[in-house]
Amino acid sequence: MTELELMPGVEASPLALLLLGRQRDPDSERGVDCPGDLPPASDPTLVARARAAKDALGDRVFVLGHHYQRDEVIAFADVTGDSFKLAQQAAARPEAEFVVFCGVHFMAESADVLTGPDQAVVLPDLAAGCSMADMATFEQVEECWDVLVEAGVADDVVPVSYMNSSAAIKAFTGRHGGTICTSSNAARALTWAYGKGEKVLFLPDQHLGRNTAVREMGLTLDDCVLYDPHKPGGGLTAQQLRDARMILWKGHCSVHGRFTVDSVREVRERVPGVTVLVHPECRHEVVEAADLVGSTEFIIKALEAAPAGSAWAIGTELNLVRRLAQAHPDKTVVFLDRTVCFCSTMNRIDLPHLVWALEELVAGRVPNRIVVDPVEAAQARAALDQMLALP
Ligand code: SF4
Repeated sequence: MTELELMPGVEASPLALLLLGRQRDPDSERGVDCPGDLPPASDPTLVARARAAKDALGDRVFVLGHHYQRDEVIAFADVTGDSFKLAQQAAARPEAEFVVFCGVHFMAESADVLTGPDQAVVLPDLAAGCSMADMATFEQVEECWDVLVEAGVADDVVPVSYMNSSAAIKAFTGRHGGTICTSSNAARALTWAYGKGEKVLFLPDQHLGRNTAVREMGLTLDDCVLYDPHKPGGGLTAQQLRDARMILWKGHCSVHGRFTVDSVREVRERVPGVTVLVHPECRHEVVEAADLVGSTEFIIKALEAAPAGSAWAIGTELNLVRRLAQAHPDKTVVFLDRTVCFCSTMNRIDLPHLVWALEELVAGRVPNRIVVDPVEAAQARAALDQMLALP
């Protein structure tokens, strides 16, 4: 149990069970159940237990920590990085029997696709999903393709899917000759896609798609249309689809999507001389108002290269910004907005879940294994391999 322990005799509501990671959210691509009793968060031996379990497993386990994870989890990561770097790292460790992925569900799926059949990928809490990935379901994307076929444009469309999507969406992308991209290589992916077809279907993050198309590919906002999966025909006419160069899926990150132009204006008043650096998952007008835009890896390198005494306002997930501020005491590093908070699903992976997962492995049980269907995995792999082959 966690600190949200239920009172004896009180029946848990579905929401309470979901918050405890023990109930399925039917609208979500994240997992189904979180079996087993977790150690309480107040247990003073948690750090020692995690260390002992990790030492007992030795080279049999490889722990990956996404940049947005809590400090208490990052402390046990063998490697940290963004979703793509972590998937690559997992693939580069064929000797590791267990890959414990401290991140969210779609990342663990990608790691399963890229690792060998004898390696088990474990997600310490199956309720660690991603609201953006959830915004494009397999059924919705198949329906969208039917709309493109009916409009007579499907043959001209190349799908480009952000890494932050379920394995089913990556498989769809592979089946239709498209590629996966990350926030670091989105421009290269679009350059490749426009060499292959006249139009791109970009999913599921409208902001990364729009920001890359307009800022780096020379397209205009009028070249982009927004496909809303909750409206008939995506809310678009066949003529709009025929005229568009970029068909953006109506999805967004619930963390980055909350930064506003007011956040930028306010921080410029609050911190004189500040450089505003934001992630491309932020809205277009926020990116336009910022000084620099780039992926998490870009943000980390920009701070490393910055001169002492410089001031930075960072628009990305709070755990990372706090660590950057601690790592650069000679610089002023502030969070772009006073109200935006952590990614709640990333934060589901905490020390109790990590200890529980590691101790289960020591006991000879594999908890919360993420397994992608082999056919789906092969199609997703084709789209991931295409990304790796991008010029
Ligand atoms: S920060 Fe945004 S994109 Fe990343 S896992 Fe959280 S909701 Fe998903």
